[in-house]
Amino acid sequence: MPSLFDQSPFPEHSASLVFAGGSVDRRSEKRSEDCLDEALKHPAARAIVFAGGRTFVSFANGEADPLFPLGAIDEFLPVVSEAVLLGFEDDRPIIAMPSRFDLDASRLPDKIKAIDFRSLAIQGLLPQARMGEVAQGASLLAWHASHRYCSRCGHESMSADGGYKRYCPNCECEHFPRTDPVVIMLAIDGERCLLGRSHHWNEGMYSALAGFVEPGETFEAAVRREIGEEAGINIGKVQYQANQPWPFPHTLMIGCFAEAISSDIVIDEKELDDCRWFKRDEILLSLENPKDAGFFVPPKMAIAHHLIEYWAKYKG
Ligand SMILES: [Zn+2]
Repeated sequence: MPSLFDQSPFPEHSASLVFAGGSVDRRSEKRSEDCLDEALKHPAARAIVFAGGRTFVSFANGEADPLFPLGAIDEFLPVVSEAVLLGFEDDRPIIAMPSRFDLDASRLPDKIKAIDFRSLAIQGLLPQARMGEVAQGASLLAWHASHRYCSRCGHESMSADGGYKRYCPNCECEHFPRTDPVVIMLAIDGERCLLGRSHHWNEGMYSALAGFVEPGETFEAAVRREIGEEAGINIGKVQYQANQPWPFPHTLMIGCFAEAISSDIVIDEKELDDCRWFKRDEILLSLENPKDAGFFVPPKMAIAHHLIEYWAKYKG
C-alpha cells in the first residue's frame, strides 16, 4: 500500500540550506522565568556575540568558531542584560547576546574577527549547525532591538522566558518573536524558467521572483499573485520545495516551483529592472561558467540557487 510519504525526500531539501541547520535542543516547553539566569551561571555555557550585523569568530587551531566561554567575551563589550538563551548542546547552554563593540577591527584580539552573516554563509566558514545558531540568535536579537515597547499601550516591555517573549508590566500583554514569511518561486514553462532582477542588484545577476506573504493569504496564492503582479504570468499548479530561515532580519523564505500557464511577460518596472525566460541550457551554462552565459544566479547559500539548480538538473 502506498504511503503518504512516498514522495517526501528525507532528509528534506531544506536540511542542506545555509541557516537551516540549527541543532541546539531548544527545550521550548521547559523555558522558565529564570532559565536565562541559570544558563548564565553555568560553567560550560557558551555565547555567540553579535555586533552590528556581525558575529565574532575565533580562528584558533585552524577552525572557525563563533562560540566563546562567558569568561572570554569581555573585550567584545557584551550587553549581558539583553542576552537570549538559544538552547542546549549536550546540556551546555548556548546563549546569544548583542555587544557595544564599535567594529574597530584593530581593537580585536589576535585570531578573532567580526564577520557579517552573509560573508560567513558565502564563504562557508562555519559548520551547518553553527550557521543555524547564528541565524537563530541574530533574528531573535533583532526582534528584541526593534520591539522594546508594548504595541498595545506603549510602555517599555521586558524580555522573558529566555528571550522568547516580551512582557508588558503595565498592561500584562505578552509579545512573541516574529517570523516574516516570504515566497520565492521559480516559474516554469516547459524547458524555460522565469528569472528577474531588481534595480539595485549587481549587473548581470538574475534570480527567482519573491515577495512577502500577506495576511490571510496561502503560500500558493502569494506565489500566483507575486508572479502575476511582477511579470504578468498566470500560474497553475504550485509545488512547495524547501524553506530557509533568512536572518535579515527575521524572514522565512518559502521556496516553490510554479507552473506557468501563460508566457507573455509584462514587467512591473517599479519592482524589476528586467525579467526573462531562460532556457534550461542557458541556466546550466551559467551554473558552470557565468561569464560565458552572460549572467549569474545567486550563490549557493541562497534558496534561489537551490531552486534554479534543482530544476535545471531535474531528470524526472
Ligand atoms: Zn502594554
